Amino acid sequence: MVDARAIHKHFGTLHVLKGVDLKVDERELVFVIGPSGSGKSTLLRCLNRLEEPSSGSIMVDGIDMLDARTNINHARRRIGMVFQSFNLYPHMTALGNVTLALRKVAGKSRAEAEALGHAALKRVGLADRADHTPGQLSGGQQQRVAIARSIALEPRVMLFDEPTSALDPELVGSVLEVMRDLRESGMTMIVVSHEMGFARNAADRVVFMDDGLIVEQGPPAAIFEAPAHERTRAFIGQIQ
Ligand code: ATP
Ligand code: MG
Repeated sequence: MVDARAIHKHFGTLHVLKGVDLKVDERELVFVIGPSGSGKSTLLRCLNRLEEPSSGSIMVDGIDMLDARTNINHARRRIGMVFQSFNLYPHMTALGNVTLALRKVAGKSRAEAEALGHAALKRVGLADRADHTPGQLSGGQQQRVAIARSIALEPRVMLFDEPTSALDPELVGSVLEVMRDLRESGMTMIVVSHEMGFARNAADRVVFMDDGLIVEQGPPAAIFEAPAHERTRAFIGQIQ
């Protein structure tokens, strides 16, 4: 589903990604961990070309993301992205936020967009909050609206960059629950997060990044219980 090879990214003189290879199968949930500044967000942003990789190749769902002939706006619709900050429009209702891209990007009629929007809000457990504005919702609910906005566009893969990091601890569970449901429904997911409990019971594979490279990857139990590399051991030791 995702096949990124030899991804390099420079910001000026800073070499942030130093040849990352990441292959993600359909329906797989890959969990990415690593120290601050190791390049996790940059990698996710390169996958949907929010950042332009300096070199490498990226295929997503059979589309060459770096080919100049690829319609990038069209290609991006296959890739949902959820950030730490929910980026909802504060003056719009939950339904308005979810239907906006359906109307403007996917070209759906108002009626169609609203039907899809209600269905997406229902999937994230917010059927009864459609008419609330972000200010009237908890952080966890706002993040679930952001997830609904993404899934309403029917992406083939979803990227999550620290989706629960801005939330009060008691609100984290509801968002992880939605992510677990998404996974159960067969969504392909790449998740950058500090929620190691979630990684242990929901991830197919854990990828450890350090200093712009994937140092080690494997099943959660192997990475958490028996990391092969010293740097992985040190990182795992710090976070548990
Ligand atoms: P964190 O866990 O803190 O979110 P991260 O692993 O996501 O860290 P990135 O945000 O990918 O790390 O950043 C990797 C490096 O690239 C850092 O040194 C960061 O300062 C640098 N960087 C990221 N974005 C830019 C940018 N737009 N311009 C210049 N440098 C950047
Ligand atoms: Mg980051």
